[in-house]
Amino acid sequence: MKICVRDAFASHCYRKEYSFVFDNMDLSDFTAGATADTVHTHAVIEASDGNVTCRLTIKADFNAICSRCASKFILPFSVETVKQIKKHDTGEFEDAIYVDAGGCFDIVCEVQSQICFEFPAKPLCSEDCKGLCPVCGCDLNKSSCKCDTRIPDRRLDVLRKLIDNN
Ligand SMILES: [Zn+2]
Ligand SMILES: [Zn+2]
Repeated sequence: MKICVRDAFASHCYRKEYSFVFDNMDLSDFTAGATADTVHTHAVIEASDGNVTCRLTIKADFNAICSRCASKFILPFSVETVKQIKKHDTGEFEDAIYVDAGGCFDIVCEVQSQICFEFPAKPLCSEDCKGLCPVCGCDLNKSSCKCDTRIPDRRLDVLRKLIDNN
């Protein structure tokens, strides 16, 4: 899906809006396996005197897996960013969108890279998710167990040795 901004570069005052609903966008490479049925994208291209920007808004509900308790949950995701649009890679704007020879860019690529950039590395079903018991594996959000989960502090080993030696 290409957006053509050739006219924007030639215009002193330019504004154009685009809305897309992407179904089944391939995102699993960018979201550690989380998927979204639909990705809503809104792009506003604005230009004044050759300075062209794209305000990109992305919204999607992801079917994610909690990195602590492994339960499935819906992760509402939304991001808004403004990017410069450049004709060619000048090396100055690393985060800019660069158009092809025809003055267009692929909005799908931009949405994918924004999601890749902003998606949490370790999604959590809730900020205070208690996770799984490391001993018996029960979900500590739903049940409790009597396992001893204290992790021995390795730094104390040195002290223990000193005490033993005396
Ligand atoms: Zn969780
Ligand atoms: Zn346990």
